[in-house]
Amino acid sequence: MADPLKKLIQGYRDFRHDYVGTNYAAYRIWASGAQDPRIMMISCSDSRVNPSILTHAGLGDLFNVQNVANLVPPYKQGQNSHHSTSAALEYAVTVLGVAHIIIMGHSGCGGIKALMQGNLPETGIMADGSYSFIGPWVHIADQAKQQVLQQYPDAKPDEQLKICEKQSVLISLKNLTSFPFIETAINTNKLKIHAWFFEISSGDILAYDHKSEKFEALQ
Ligand SMILES: [Zn+2]
Repeated sequence: MADPLKKLIQGYRDFRHDYVGTNYAAYRIWASGAQDPRIMMISCSDSRVNPSILTHAGLGDLFNVQNVANLVPPYKQGQNSHHSTSAALEYAVTVLGVAHIIIMGHSGCGGIKALMQGNLPETGIMADGSYSFIGPWVHIADQAKQQVLQQYPDAKPDEQLKICEKQSVLISLKNLTSFPFIETAINTNKLKIHAWFFEISSGDILAYDHKSEKFEALQ
């Protein structure tokens, strides 16, 4: 079996050729400036979800956060947690001044599956005494799970999972507005927030429409 790292290094060589080698002077000028992305994208760490490839975005176009199950935690102060995603939100909105934040969920999400299966405790402490970081993290979307179980109690587990994958994006969208600096930016028309969903099998991206309250084809 070929070493996957070799393919990656060849890709790096192609990047050097395409981006840097073909017009070195232009690249140097571009690279000497500060970043100024207009869009922040929050997507899953899933290897099939790559927002730059899915949107043909170039270097400098997207300020990216990728985490397990593309979750946004609620605004919470305190030193007892490492608020990676919250720090990225603060930087994107208060320093970079992005005009859009897009949360992109996806089908077949392992993080949401773990939430729905319910075998990862919110405390993180497992039955054998070990600790799972995934447990407390995916419980950010617990409200989505409860909504699905209440509204679709008779649906098959895989159907409930599909609904929860979308519903959890809306929980994260709501959590965005719990950050005071995001609320202010929205109220002053400096920022718009969006919920997208990538259907891996079809390659379609859907966008949440607040009027129809459904995910519709991205226009
Ligand atoms: Zn995922």
